[in-house]
Amino acid sequence: MTTYRLSDEQIRLKEAARRFSRTELGPISAEVEREGGLLTRETLKMMAEQGYMGLDIPPEFGGLGLDTLSCAVILEEMSAVWFSAASHPVTLLTGPLLFAGTEEQQRRFLPRVASGDCITAFALTEPDAGSDAASISTFAHRDGDDWVINGRKIFITNGARADLIVLFARTDRDAPRGGGISLFLIEAGTPGFSVGREFDTIAHTANPIAELIFEDCRVPASSLLGAEGEGFKYIQVGFAKTRAIYGARCAGVAQGAIDYALDYMQTREQFGQPLAQFQALRFRAADLGAKIAAARHLSYHAAALAQDGTDDAPVAASMAKLFGGNVCTEVTQQAVQFLGGHGLTKDHPVERYYRETKLFQIGDGSSEMLSLLISRHMNRQAQGGMSARLASD
Ligand SMILES: Cc1cc2nc3c(=O)[nH]c(=O)nc-3n(C[C@H](O)[C@H](O)[C@H](O)COP(=O)(O)OP(=O)(O)OC[C@H]3O[C@@H](n4cnc5c(N)ncnc54)[C@H](O)[C@@H]3O)c2cc1C
Repeated sequence: MTTYRLSDEQIRLKEAARRFSRTELGPISAEVEREGGLLTRETLKMMAEQGYMGLDIPPEFGGLGLDTLSCAVILEEMSAVWFSAASHPVTLLTGPLLFAGTEEQQRRFLPRVASGDCITAFALTEPDAGSDAASISTFAHRDGDDWVINGRKIFITNGARADLIVLFARTDRDAPRGGGISLFLIEAGTPGFSVGREFDTIAHTANPIAELIFEDCRVPASSLLGAEGEGFKYIQVGFAKTRAIYGARCAGVAQGAIDYALDYMQTREQFGQPLAQFQALRFRAADLGAKIAAARHLSYHAAALAQDGTDDAPVAASMAKLFGGNVCTEVTQQAVQFLGGHGLTKDHPVERYYRETKLFQIGDGSSEMLSLLISRHMNRQAQGGMSARLASD
């Protein structure tokens, strides 16, 4: 049984991340979100200079080499202030690159990611393959020493401005479901790769969302990441880590929303007293506080499992993201309610927390897909009997 206890160093990292997020990121996020702008490269550079990029990248490649739980506590604090910024310090690309990349690929790309000079994107979703990601049709075929790629990806965060994209493409049409899919590293400016439409979303607006088009896009054999046909396996390993961290990020957003609402309720008076004095509202806040704590601890537990690479890590991470997303949705909705009509205006950040949160139940594994993974695991345990369950608790 893996359990966790935050070390003194992890507590220090969490407190430092809270200070950095509030003092450095807070003012930038307020301005960017008010103006409907983007998280800029200058902000990413500033984050890197302050030690908040490449959190999980080993020091020999310029990163901090932090364990998963340390990443989770830092990104929880960052998300409480600006969820969009917290997408960058641990990317979905880093895991497969560390796990399956060649030394040459690692040396070439990881230092640039860690320094904030390289924006990355993760290109899986297609017009006809969302939840059913195994049914992607983007295809790459060998032509001499090259690969030639054709297909379209949609909803790709930072796709329009990414310097480096990890692309999922089918390389074997006859492989069994989930197999025959490979990862490719695609650099901006590669001939045959272009950006299509941009999506105007209500969430994650500081990181633009775009369609990516591959038309006879020719890349050298060295662009293949890991073994041919093993792409889905690599990404499952990555998800155990990123979904555990995602759970902590949800707890962070929820905490940020409730903290703001509670502050507001100390001074907003109705019926001759502050809102914070009304027992009905206090009890509602207490209930949500308990749920946020549960989401936080579940995600920390999942992060510890991911770090140890236990068999249960993927399902624990799915639980952390599922539960965290649901708690965050409930909390941010109530945070708006606590502010009444004021909560619906852009005078207060709770409207943004409320909008952004919906993504947490859709992106990086929707709630339904996570439930599917968890329920499969539970059924397997039921079939294996009580001893299997106790062994994994
Ligand atoms: C802001 C934003 C950023 C994104 N960034 C990225 C990115 O960077 N890279 C990337 O690859 N993708 C990205 N996505 C895409 C995201 O991962 C997909 O939207 C998600 O996987 C769901 O796919 P879909 O939208 O096609 O919904 P669909 O697959 O059409 O599903 C619609 C609904 O049906 C449910 N559903 C589907 N199948 C089942 C089932 N068998 N049982 C029960 N319910 C089911 C889903 O959970 C969902 O609620 C992003 C999306 C958004 C909105």
